[in-house]
Amino acid sequence: MHVIYGGTFDPVHHGHLRLALELSDRFGGARINLVPCHIPPHRGDTGATAEQRLALLKLAVAGEPQLQVDDRELVRAGASYTADTLRQLRQELGADVPLVMVVGTDAFAGFDRWRDWQQIPDLAHIVVVRRPGPGLDPAGEPARLLVRRQASGLQALHEQPAGLVLELDPPLLDISATGIRERIADGRSPRYLVPDPVWDEIRRQGLYRACPGGNF
Ligand code: ATP
Repeated sequence: MHVIYGGTFDPVHHGHLRLALELSDRFGGARINLVPCHIPPHRGDTGATAEQRLALLKLAVAGEPQLQVDDRELVRAGASYTADTLRQLRQELGADVPLVMVVGTDAFAGFDRWRDWQQIPDLAHIVVVRRPGPGLDPAGEPARLLVRRQASGLQALHEQPAGLVLELDPPLLDISATGIRERIADGRSPRYLVPDPVWDEIRRQGLYRACPGGNF
């Protein structure tokens, strides 16, 4: 089984990392591949550059064999579309290996605006991690897809290469990258929300500050 967990990771935080390890446990020790996106098609400018986000991510997973960084979307020129990533992975893995894409409900709520979204269930399973917030519109395409393709359980994902949608409700830490960027811009510390090496590097490079030369 090959599992990818994409995001902006601007910056990566303990919410992302704990979730990734929880998923690894539930998937029988599968490695989780964190895939930072280059230019998020649905979002504006990021706080740090793609290279800086990648460097922070690598620091965050150093020494944790269950977590790996896959930088393919940064290497590819231009906007990164999940469908392209999944096609590329499907080619590399062959037709039979289960491929799993992990998304939060916030991201999945806009799934029917992703490029080539209708092809995605044929390329991979989708694991939707329930996050606090409004949830899915029951009449919308993402919720309908979830009902149509609902997996009977985790084991079902091991038994076919793609095509199922599974909702999971793992314990989540109440941390967001937006909150971390705001804290730093306000001159407050995000310590204990991000791994120490990540915070050290953010400070060293002066990232996310409203005015360089601030409080840190
Ligand atoms: P931002 O605040 O900038 O929107 P974020 O913290 O939500 O960022 P992203 O990089 O956008 O992080 O998220 C990547 C993926 O991680 C998304 O699928 C999102 O739902 C999920 N995610 C974000 N924060 C958490 C968290 N605290 N626990 C579990 N999953 C999270």
